[in-house]
Amino acid sequence: MKGILFVLSGPSGTGKGTVCAELLKRDNNISLSVSMTTRECREGETPGVTYHYVSVEEFKHNIENGEMLEYAVYGDNYYGTPRSSVEKLLNEGKDVLLEIEPQGALQIKSKFPEAVLLFLIPPSMAELKNRLVSRGREDTEEIEKRLEAAKWELMQAEKYNIHIVNDSLDECVDRVIEYFNEKRAERRKIEELINELG
Ligand code: 5GP
Repeated sequence: MKGILFVLSGPSGTGKGTVCAELLKRDNNISLSVSMTTRECREGETPGVTYHYVSVEEFKHNIENGEMLEYAVYGDNYYGTPRSSVEKLLNEGKDVLLEIEPQGALQIKSKFPEAVLLFLIPPSMAELKNRLVSRGREDTEEIEKRLEAAKWELMQAEKYNIHIVNDSLDECVDRVIEYFNEKRAERRKIEELINELG
C-alpha cells in the first residue's frame, strides 16, 4: 500500500516548524521531506537537514527538468519540494509530511487529489505578529511582508481538508496525530474492501 502524502501548511509564524518537530518525535510512521530553497542558511540550520540550499540557477534548472513536486516564490526566495525523494518514500509505503506555504500546498492538491491537507491557524493576527517578532529570525521589513502574505494565505484555508488552531502546542499536536490516524484508518478500510473484491 502506498504511503499517504500529508501537507501541513499555513501562514509563517503559525508554528508549522514546531508542530512538525513534535510530530516527528511522536509519530514514527511519518518522514519529513527536506525542501530546497534559494534563501541563505541561517545560524542554527543544517544543510541537508533543515533545507537543501541551492543557487537560483540550480533551482530553476530543477524546475525545468520537472524535478520539483511543487514550488513557490516566497518573499525573495524560491522554496520547493524535490520530487524523487517523496515519490520513493510513498512507493515504499511510508507516509510523507510536507511543511510548506499555501501556494505550494494548493499545487499539491491539484496534482495529488488524494493528499491530505491540513491548515494551521494562529489564535489571532496579534499573536501571529507577536510570534514572528519574538522568534527574531526576520527583520521588520520581512515580517511586514510575511503578515501581508498571511492575508491571502488565510483566504485559502477553506480549500484544505482540516483547520487546526495552534494555541496550545500539545493540544494542537494531539489533534494533528488523531486526524492523521483517522485518515490512515480510512485508507486501510478502503484497501480492505478493494482487496475483498480480489
Ligand atoms: P522560512 O524562510 O521561514 O524557512 O520559510 C518560509 C516559508 O516557506 C514557510 O512558510 C515555509 O513553510 C515555506 N516552505 C518551506 N519549504 C517549502 C517548500 O518546499 N515549498 C513551499 N511551497 N514552501 C516551503
